[in-house]
Amino acid sequence: MLDEKCIFCRIIKGEIPSAKVYEDDWMCVFKDVEPKAKVHLLAVPKTHFKLIEEAGEDGMEMLSYMLTKIPAIARENGCENGYRLIINQGEDAGQTVFHLHIHILGGEKLGDL
Ligand code: 5GP
Ligand code: ZN
Repeated sequence: MLDEKCIFCRIIKGEIPSAKVYEDDWMCVFKDVEPKAKVHLLAVPKTHFKLIEEAGEDGMEMLSYMLTKIPAIARENGCENGYRLIINQGEDAGQTVFHLHIHILGGEKLGDL
């Protein structure tokens, strides 16, 4: 289920342009508009939920599917020497888009968090 007002749902639907690097029936991966590393991708499930605990059974299946796909996608997009995955969850983490997404950061030696 997608949400009309959500920016990532609108990117998934193609209503807002993005630099997509991968897409299939379950997920979409596109470049972050404000990259925090040389490579900064966002992996987004094609269903709208904010938090891991809201994923439900289907969402959890989607997340585990995404994790199986991410290594090759990261490698093919410049993260041959490793990468960092981040999922910001809620206010203290600074989550700004309330559609769960996995940040993929790499393409260079990353600093400490
Ligand atoms: P959060 O802080 O919620 O974990 O991360 C949201 C991320 O989405 C931020 O890194 C931000 O730069 C990115 N972002 C926000 N709006 C857009 C957009 O319209 N297009 C793309 N490609 N990235 C976006
Ligand atoms: Zn959404």
